[in-house]
Amino acid sequence: MSVRVVARIRPLLEKELDKDIIVCADSAEEGKPHTIVKIPSPKNEAEEFSFTFNSVYDQSTSQETLFTSEVQPYLKSLFNGLDVTLFAYGVTGTGKTHTMRGGLKLADRGVIPRLLSGIFRRGKKVAKESENDTMVEVALSYYEIYNDKVYDLLEPPEARTPLGLPLRAEANGKTVVVGLTERTCEDLKDFEKLYIEANNNRVTAATKLNAHSSRSHAILRVKITQTTADGQVLTSTASAIDLAGSEDNRRTDNNRERLVESAAINKSLFVLSQCIDAISRGDKRIPYRESKMTRILSLGQNNGITVMILNLAPLRSYHLDTLSSLTVSSRAKRI
Ligand code: ADP
Ligand code: MG
Repeated sequence: MSVRVVARIRPLLEKELDKDIIVCADSAEEGKPHTIVKIPSPKNEAEEFSFTFNSVYDQSTSQETLFTSEVQPYLKSLFNGLDVTLFAYGVTGTGKTHTMRGGLKLADRGVIPRLLSGIFRRGKKVAKESENDTMVEVALSYYEIYNDKVYDLLEPPEARTPLGLPLRAEANGKTVVVGLTERTCEDLKDFEKLYIEANNNRVTAATKLNAHSSRSHAILRVKITQTTADGQVLTSTASAIDLAGSEDNRRTDNNRERLVESAAINKSLFVLSQCIDAISRGDKRIPYRESKMTRILSLGQNNGITVMILNLAPLRSYHLDTLSSLTVSSRAKRI
């Protein structure tokens, strides 16, 4: 099991009125790549907090650079049978969806379409070059966790039951969602069609509940099955997760429904950070059973690779939430 925690600072947006930039990337030594995020103390501007990550990407980082540095290197491992999990964590408005999904223009495409493109390309290569007629199948499931309930995003919102889908622990220690749709994808076009449809389902469902999709975790699972002519099977899974916003909704809106949501969101995000912490310390006991999200991901229970991307907005208007998300993403240290 290996875990990386990286931070990405988004640029200032044109529409933004607050132009007071307080978050910046820095290096441990001059000329070295960025590994430090600096932010002033909210109580005393003269005091500065520094948080250290495996890597820090500043506002000028392109979608391509992020993908090439943080995700591409794992494509090979994925086809060797390792599971790969990618998380975007951070306050609403900091660029999680931009990082994971991205825009429609080719250069704006995020980690997910690039990952799928890489998987299809590599899958074709494996099939073509294998000596034993390996067949590669790519199957997709996509679901969200809202208020600690699991909903299939490949099904229309009308098909949802109030309790959501149940979980089941398998003999191998993994937890599966019972009744989740799995759809085979032949190529990137196939995937994109499904992905757009599913994201529309997510928005429709949220609108019906008078909620916002930033309050649910969206989890895309790509299962790769490689079957040789003599029947040997190798499976691996890539999971890409756009987490709910990590801000404390209680501060801004304290009606009852929001309080319930906030408690569920904060608990699962808290458990996630505890798991990442425990994994990065090399602990034997990972508290993954404490929330549905971490249970489903069997976080720390597989021998795979996890990359957590902490998204940050550089502006003063995000000060307290930014500080708290930096603190939670733990491996961070204060100097
Ligand atoms: P989140 O999903 O964390 O709530 P979004 O991904 O929706 O945040 O980003 C908020 C806004 O900032 C969007 O308009 C998005 O296009 C823009 N944005 C985020 N990151 C970047 C970036 N690296 N470059 C350009 N625009 C960005
Ligand atoms: Mg989002």
